[in-house]
Amino acid sequence: MTASIYIIGGGPAGCLLASKLASNNVNVTVFEEHPEIGLPDHCAGLVNCKNLQKFFNPPKKIIKNIVKGAVIRYNHGVIYLSRNIDEAYVIDRPGLDQYLALKAQEKGAAIRVNQKIVGLKRVNGMFKLISATGEAFNEASVIVNAAGVKGLFSKTINPIASKYLNATPAIQYEMYNVKDISKDHVELYFNNDLTPGFFSWIIPLNEETVRVGVGARASSLQDRIQYFIRKIDFNAYRFRNSKLQAVKKGLILTGGPVNKTYWDGGILLGDAAAQVKPTTGGGLILAGLCANIAARILIKAAETRNFSSSFLSKYQASWRSILSAELTYMKYVRYLLDGLDNTHLTMFFEKIKDSNIVEAIISEGDMDFQAKTVKSVMKKPMFIRLIPLTLLGLTKHALK
Ligand SMILES: Cc1cc2nc3c(=O)[nH]c(=O)nc-3n(C[C@H](O)[C@H](O)[C@H](O)COP(=O)(O)OP(=O)(O)OC[C@H]3O[C@@H](n4cnc5c(N)ncnc54)[C@H](O)[C@@H]3O)c2cc1C
Repeated sequence: MTASIYIIGGGPAGCLLASKLASNNVNVTVFEEHPEIGLPDHCAGLVNCKNLQKFFNPPKKIIKNIVKGAVIRYNHGVIYLSRNIDEAYVIDRPGLDQYLALKAQEKGAAIRVNQKIVGLKRVNGMFKLISATGEAFNEASVIVNAAGVKGLFSKTINPIASKYLNATPAIQYEMYNVKDISKDHVELYFNNDLTPGFFSWIIPLNEETVRVGVGARASSLQDRIQYFIRKIDFNAYRFRNSKLQAVKKGLILTGGPVNKTYWDGGILLGDAAAQVKPTTGGGLILAGLCANIAARILIKAAETRNFSSSFLSKYQASWRSILSAELTYMKYVRYLLDGLDNTHLTMFFEKIKDSNIVEAIISEGDMDFQAKTVKSVMKKPMFIRLIPLTLLGLTKHALK
């Protein structure tokens, strides 16, 4: 009998992994708590073009817009970053999840919706999952917790749950009838009074429909997003006659992955492992990359029937060998940005603007793998002018 694998969570990480495992004749079942895969949606759906194709290869219909660059706003300043090439897709996120689930099913994976897993036990070496409906499932030799942020924080389905302090609440509105929107550019607004610990964003779907959001390590997110769209000078007139279509809420993980992502008989994947970029909170591409690695290790584990902690540690060693340096540099940038008050944040961006750093970001920047850009910026003579602010930001963050 082939080994069975249970995946908790039918998001992109869980469904992509299921599809890879099923393609290799591994018995796999995905448990999703909601009645429909992909819903409710919580994501801004901005993903690098090249990496979306590489890891998920979705059909064209899920791509709702293509952006070529970014407008960074801070206080009264603006920096334009654009290479005039297709940089990122704005996607129909539920559509992506549903496509991945269908593909997994076609390859032979079972997808069980309406199955919220509320209990996890190991009996005679086999895992037993208990769902909120009272059903029990007890044929798995290995468990993958791909249950997103809930999976990260759950003591029931995450046996190695650790304290994770860097979760940033976010709220996003989908709005139409907005004026003066460039369909080709996302906008990021940094203001550490309005959005301490993160930023506000406007992601265009077309010239008049946007996903607008704020993330902040603070309370009253509704008030903050209202302030962003109604009071900030460059927005107030654009949103004056806008209409609200949908509201989404979620937690953005900005502290980098948890220390341990495997145990005897199980692994954590995607947001459940906090495999998310600390700079932007983007997790889709890292989830895709880590799902590929998890598939490789779990296929071997199933072949050799070795689900021991020491075997599964190869999963962590493998994703860390690719991502550790990346995430360290991203954390450095996140801590720096978090640590600066608005006056110093403005000085920081002004210095970047007045230097050749913008050109370096434009020519070498990669939305997902940012270490090369950060390292290259650090080598620029102009970086010397940033050192005092960098030290100030990092010190303030450390003292928080
Ligand atoms: C506001 C916001 C905006 C974002 N924008 C972007 C962006 O633009 N680009 C980007 O790359 N990333 C973005 N992210 C991050 C991205 O959404 C996540 O990194 C990504 O969804 C992780 O995928 P996942 O499969 O690990 O988890 P999820 O997508 O969260 O999927 C987990 C699944 O598990 C299910 N589940 C949870 N608990 C249980 C249980 N007990 N039993 C059964 N099922 C369960 C959930 O219902 C869910 O379907 C954003 C996040 C937020 C909050």
